[in-house]
Amino acid sequence: MYKYASVRETLATRLDVLDPPRPSWEQVERVHTAAYLKKLNFGTLEPKELRLLGLPWSPNLVERALRAMGGTLMAANDALETGLGINLAGGTHHAYPDHGEGFCTLNDVAITIRDLFETRALNRILVLDLDVHQGNGTAHIFGSDPRVFTLSVHGSRNYPFHKERSSLDVGLDDWITDNDYFAVLQTQVFPALEAFKPELVFYLAGVDVLAKDRFGRFSLSVEGAKARDSSVFAWCQNAGVPVVSLMSGGYNRDPKVTVEAHANTVRAALEVFG
Ligand SMILES: [Zn+2]
Repeated sequence: MYKYASVRETLATRLDVLDPPRPSWEQVERVHTAAYLKKLNFGTLEPKELRLLGLPWSPNLVERALRAMGGTLMAANDALETGLGINLAGGTHHAYPDHGEGFCTLNDVAITIRDLFETRALNRILVLDLDVHQGNGTAHIFGSDPRVFTLSVHGSRNYPFHKERSSLDVGLDDWITDNDYFAVLQTQVFPALEAFKPELVFYLAGVDVLAKDRFGRFSLSVEGAKARDSSVFAWCQNAGVPVVSLMSGGYNRDPKVTVEAHANTVRAALEVFG
């Protein structure tokens, strides 16, 4: 939890940071089941459901999940207006319609996409999930929706141990380093983006790809992760595709490294988009 306030503080001099609105239950219900939302709202999740989620229940847990989700919605609308929207939270890709898991309470990207399909004339949205863990919840939710291309690059031996089928899964070996990772972006990720021709990209810029992440099992450097972010933003800008940048995971043994790397994602976005 430390990283959220700290990233905001680190970037405060360069950004106007806005507090997101609380989304409506109607928006959230476009993805999550009424039974799950009821248990979440009233704090009646079973012990095994809380273990799966990995977080203790409190009214604040619900409030922050809703606000983080509101931030993704706000950032998506910013992106559609200006080309770039940033949420200093979000990317909670392990949440399923009927349960949370892996520190993910609500699937902010899925809720936002369903909202956009209701309110905007969009037909092709791409979720570029470069968090080290597979975006299993998002892949599950959009498994039969041809309007959403889910692309996940992740550690093939890492959590989640039961992987869902994304539109494109790129499973990588443990301890991959900068150059090999960059080659994967060039040979597999960018060609897929070119081919799908999205109208909007959600970019999950997880920094749990860094060396010494507690849950990561990759070996990227801080510079390598920033180069990754810069090349994603440059691809979007060159293609004229609006992009929504989301934090996702980051659990470095040194929390300052996590904060620096998340701040670098935003710096990279500002450098590319000016
Ligand atoms: Zn992760």
